Order: sequence, then structure tokens, then C-alpha cells
Amino acid sequence: MPPQRFALPSEVPGLAARRIAADILDGVLHKHRTLDEQLDGAAAHPGLKNLSDRDRALMRRLVATILRRLGTLGHVLSRLLDRGIPTDAPRAQSALLIGAAQILWMDVPDHAAVDLSVRLVQSDRRAAKYAGLVNAVLRRCAREGQPLIDEVKSQTLDVPPWLMARWIAHYGEAVARDIAAAIGQDPSLDITVKSDPEQWATRLHGETLPTGSVRTLLQGSVKMLPGFSEGHWWVQDAAAALPARLFGDVAGKAIVDLCAAPGGKTAQLALAGARVTAIDRSPHRMTRLRDNLARLALDAEVVVADGADWLERNHDRGFDGILVDAPCTSTGTIRRHPDVGWLRQESDIAPLAALQKRLLQKAVTLLRPGGMLVYCTCSLEPEEGEQAVAALLASEPAMRRVPIEAAEVAGLGELLTAEGDLRTLPCHLPHVDPRLGGLDGFYAARLVRQT
Ligand code: SAM
Repeated sequence: MPPQRFALPSEVPGLAARRIAADILDGVLHKHRTLDEQLDGAAAHPGLKNLSDRDRALMRRLVATILRRLGTLGHVLSRLLDRGIPTDAPRAQSALLIGAAQILWMDVPDHAAVDLSVRLVQSDRRAAKYAGLVNAVLRRCAREGQPLIDEVKSQTLDVPPWLMARWIAHYGEAVARDIAAAIGQDPSLDITVKSDPEQWATRLHGETLPTGSVRTLLQGSVKMLPGFSEGHWWVQDAAAALPARLFGDVAGKAIVDLCAAPGGKTAQLALAGARVTAIDRSPHRMTRLRDNLARLALDAEVVVADGADWLERNHDRGFDGILVDAPCTSTGTIRRHPDVGWLRQESDIAPLAALQKRLLQKAVTLLRPGGMLVYCTCSLEPEEGEQAVAALLASEPAMRRVPIEAAEVAGLGELLTAEGDLRTLPCHLPHVDPRLGGLDGFYAARLVRQT
């Protein structure tokens, strides 16, 4: 648990936000805790509730900026520190990162950024001896930081080397660099609307994408935006909105959503008139699914269970469709979840690929003849996408791929592979304003059971 020290009545304005940012950063970098779990839910940082909306937004932006530019920050700081970042006081490391990120990329006066970081180390027993060092290094960062960034001229520093090497091997050097550049951008807010995207694009000061999602640069709590509490829309990356549509017309059909929470795709299927059975093994995430469905006034049968166990228990039932949005490394979502790259390791891929294989093999047994399977992951790693489906097709002669047509994805043929699967990349859907471009990296394939 983070230390129980929050905004004291006499505290310098903005210091509590930086201290909570430092705790959360330590959580990601040293305790293997995700941003999501530290920002929301039962295990969230207890100090968050004492922050104003403005400070909470600033804290989130600060942590996201640091994680998004961690490699570049490491480069800059290593050039300014003769003996490297102190290793015996994590708070000195986070104070340097927090100070440098504000100086280099955020609208915070340099002197305030330096002062707040010095205060951060002064209030930590182990780090206090580095107050002078933090002060000197951050002042130099204000003078020399930008030229040090310019000398690198590459955002590949901000992708963990093992991941960059994989992307180069699978997508080629140029595309891998484009992916790295795209995930360096702050993401837009994408929403799926129940109806009338043009009207919602206008109301939310955004635009309608060719795929029908609405994209806006509005920030802050989505709960405060028009139409959210009335259930007119839900948050969903534009790429994440594509797989559920691959079933075609689902009105009246029985569809299982095997890994359903928090329910973006369940909502799409229910809205399109399917009789959805939504399954997920996480009770906490299923509470969010139930809340989302209630807010959207949509209906589904909700089951908290391990997907493979549930499939075994229900082997005698036949369904028209199964969506397997499998748990994965999520490397396609680093733009939105900048902690993912630093928390994941290459060794995570094999066990997840094994789980995906198990879920897929059991899922096909529940399909009635002619029934459709849509498999998807938000991973850029071929083991969790193309290779998983190739292995299934090789082992299940009854399953056949139904290639996706460009017309099904708004004519965007570049989102499809030669085999007719969906493969979206963070650098897809470029825009003159880079803040309005990009997609999460998704893979999806559509298969049908022949007998
Ligand atoms: N389909 C969801 C949506 O569109 O909102 C996102 C699903 S997320 C990619 C993967 C989900 O798989 C997580 O909610 C996780 O709890 C769930 N999960 C992981 N292992 C599972 C298992 N063995 N059985 C069922 N669900 C599982």
C-alpha cells in the first residue's frame, strides 16, 4: 500500500498531486502494479479522493506522460547525471522523472517543477540527501533538456527494446517506427454511440470516423460529458469497435461473449439485437459490465465464470456465434495504457498464447453448424493473433476462415491482412492533426463451423 500521507492543510499547492504521482509511478516501475488498479477500484491510491478534479487530471497526465516518454527521460537524465539515477532512494528517481517531464512537455513553469520535486525528495527520509542533486539536475534540464531530446530524434527509445525488436521482425523497420511514433501521442477519446454519430460528434466537439465511431479531444471525467449518464454512448477505441461487427446481422441470434468485461462488445451485440451470454472470470470487471449495461439500458445474461470451465459445462448447447476477445499482452493498447510496455515481458506471451489456444479449442465445440466464431486480441504479437488462428484452422478441419471484406471496415483495406483478417496498428488512420489519428492495435479473424 502507498504511504498514508496526503494533502496537509498547510501544504504547498500541487505537492499532493506530485506525491501521489510519485507513489503511482513507484507502483508501476518497482511493484509491478498497473495504472488501472492504482487509479480506480478497491486498490486505488487512497489519496486520490482528496485531490481536486483539476489536480487529479494533472496527476494522471503527469504519470501518463512519464510512462509514455520513459526511454527519452532516461536518456536525458543519464546525460545530466554523472553517476546515473540514484538507486538507493526510489523517491529521488520519481522526483527527477516528475520534474523533467513537467519541464520538457507540460505547461508548468520550470521553477515550480524544480521546487516541487525538491520538496518531494526533502520529505522522504531516504531521498532527502539528494535534494541538492535534484535541484541542480532539473535546473540543467530546463536549459539543456530539449537539445538532448533533439539529438536522439527517435521515439523508438520509448518502446522497451524487446518489444521494438519483435515489431521490427514482424512488421518491418519502417512500420515498427511508425507504431512507436503513434504510441508516443496522447490518445483521443473514442466512443461508440447508440445512434446518430454526427449529432454526438457535434455535441462532443469531435468528428465521426469512417468506421462510425466518434472521436473527440475532450478531456476529464467522461461521466461529466453530455449523453454519458443518459446512456447514449460508451467509451470504446475505434479499433475495438470493429470485431463485434464481423458477425453481421445478429438480431435474434444467440451469441456468447466469452471474455466480456467491461462489456464494450457485449453492448454492441446487445444493441444490435443479439441474445447475448456474457462471461468473464473477473467479478470486479463484471460489476463494471453490469453497471455499463444498466446505464445503457441494454440486456444480457451475465455469468461470472472461467470461460473454459463454462464451455465444458455447456458443451451440449449450440450457439449461433461466439466472440473470444481473449486475455492477451495488450501490446496494441500502449497508446492508451502506457504502463503496459514496461510491465509486460516477452516471457508473458507463451502462457497467454496457451490460454488463448485452450479457450479457442473449447469455443468451437459450442458452435452449431454454420455458427460463427470471431477471435480477437488487442495485441500486436503474432503468437496471439495470426498464429493462434492458423493453429486452430490446422487442428479443426470443421472450421473455415471467412475473409473480411474491405467494405465491412469502411473500405479501409489497409486494416486487412492478405488472408482477410483484421490487423489494425496504432499508426493506422493518420490525421493531419496527429492527436486525432491512430487506432489501438487489434487482431481479429472470422471463422465458420461447416459441419
Ligand atoms: N471484451 C471486453 C470488452 O470489449 O469490453 C474486453 C475483454 S479483455 C480483452 C479480456 C477479459 O478476459 C478480461 O476481462 C479478463 O477478466 C477476462 N478473462 C481472462 N481470463 C479469462 C478466462 N479464463 N475466462 C473468462 N474470462 C477471462
